[in-house]
Amino acid sequence: MTTYPEVRMLIGGEWIAEGGQGAMQVVNPATEKAIGSAPKVSKEQLDAALAAADSGFAVWRDTPAIERYRVIRRAAELLRERAETIARVVTLEMGKPHAQALGETTGAADLIDFLAEEAKRQGGRIVPARSHAILEQRVTQEPVGPAVLLTPWNFPINLPAKKIGGALAAGCSAILKPAETTPASAQMLVECFVDAGLPDGVLNLVHGDPAMISEHLIASPVTRKVSFTGSTAVGKQLGVLAAQGMKRFTPELGGHAPVVIGESADFDRTVAACAATKFRNAGQVCVSPTRFLVARGIYDRFVAEFAARSQKLKVGDASSDESVEMGPLAHAGRVAAMTELMKSLGGEKGEIVAGGSAIQGPGHFFQPTVIAAPSLDSRLMVEEPFGPVAGIVPYDDIEEAVRIANSLRYGLAAYAFTASLDESHYLGRSLRAGMVAINHFGVGSPETPFGGTGDSGFGSESGVEGYLGYTETKLVTVAKA
Ligand code: NAD
Repeated sequence: MTTYPEVRMLIGGEWIAEGGQGAMQVVNPATEKAIGSAPKVSKEQLDAALAAADSGFAVWRDTPAIERYRVIRRAAELLRERAETIARVVTLEMGKPHAQALGETTGAADLIDFLAEEAKRQGGRIVPARSHAILEQRVTQEPVGPAVLLTPWNFPINLPAKKIGGALAAGCSAILKPAETTPASAQMLVECFVDAGLPDGVLNLVHGDPAMISEHLIASPVTRKVSFTGSTAVGKQLGVLAAQGMKRFTPELGGHAPVVIGESADFDRTVAACAATKFRNAGQVCVSPTRFLVARGIYDRFVAEFAARSQKLKVGDASSDESVEMGPLAHAGRVAAMTELMKSLGGEKGEIVAGGSAIQGPGHFFQPTVIAAPSLDSRLMVEEPFGPVAGIVPYDDIEEAVRIANSLRYGLAAYAFTASLDESHYLGRSLRAGMVAINHFGVGSPETPFGGTGDSGFGSESGVEGYLGYTETKLVTVAKA
């Protein structure tokens, strides 16, 4: 039996259980039962968090990089030690199977490690001067300042870890606002940093109404950077607020990833990888493969095999059954969104060949769903479904596949499977996306940048870029006295 912790906020090193605006209930999406509550922050408490982040920044930016590294590395070790317990709380709050929650948590520790290491490595550069009268031209990366970190519920450990790791490694302080549905997961991550010895005020945690919190925090002159992961619509609103204050902004938004499957691809390995990856986290992943573009010669076989694999998946409450492969959707709104999407299908808009319906509750479950031959203008093929649904369409030549893949405004991840070297080079070059993976689905390693283009946002997290995103460039040039 997993014990749900008391959820609190962290402001200036003090854990606060009382929200100035009351409390909000937290529900297990697999049972629809309340599991706890979280305090709702008031504007006065947000002002206290801003003041704490301001004074925390003054301390942390002047802390030697090696000290920052040691504290952050220690936090990553604590995260690893506590991963088993934290993963169980992740499953309670948002429903993903334990193995996935555990992999997310230990993976987040690796991410934090990598970003901490960058604190030691990023030394800047010396630029040759045009004249000997100039003694030195030194370019350094300075921490940008207090950062506001806004994260969603689908990866409640990994996404805050990327942002906190990058911000703290670079010498910034931060205020984290996690999703309303997953406050305890975020708290357990933050506790690792506190217990690792992070000075008071460097990392703060608040819960509550997302629009009120983001508007108040972004408007403050204390805030110098905003990092948001979530929907494109909200990302655009926050981008306007950040621009009004000339603040750095990193939006990591929605996607609608295409998968181009060539005739030469290893069929069994490809279809197995596609079905497993599509339904991971019940499809609630910004890089989830959604538009499967399959060479006509193997199309019928691919649809049949994908549908058969989808129907075999065990769906259920992962908090009480370890054999569950796909958990519930995060909240009732996601099931309603999937049901609406299904109503838009039929006729040339696509045939449902697996799933297609909500599963009778309790719990917010939806069947793994496969749609054959949806028209390219159907809602499924244009709007990010953010759920367990795949659309499969045939193509006749590789240029047509690339045209379809590149036809949306999103550009986060794109995938391809092919044994042809020529085709893999062509696809790597031509697919318009921030990340292209060929013959696998792995776009989320700690060492590589993660980010998109177009309506999927800009900037990158993780990798060296995940550190540099919390810095600004400074030139110091010195002439002879
Ligand atoms: P939603 O837009 O209500 O909430 C998504 C997340 O955004 C939540 O964590 C919420 O706290 C936050 N949010 C909402 N309004 C905000 C605001 N004004 N300021 C700051 N944060 C705000 O949608 P939902 O139904 O919970 O999630 C589904 C949609 O969200 C999907 O369409 C998907 O595009 C998007 N989403 C994307 C990611 C991602 O990894 N890119 C993750 C989760 C959700």
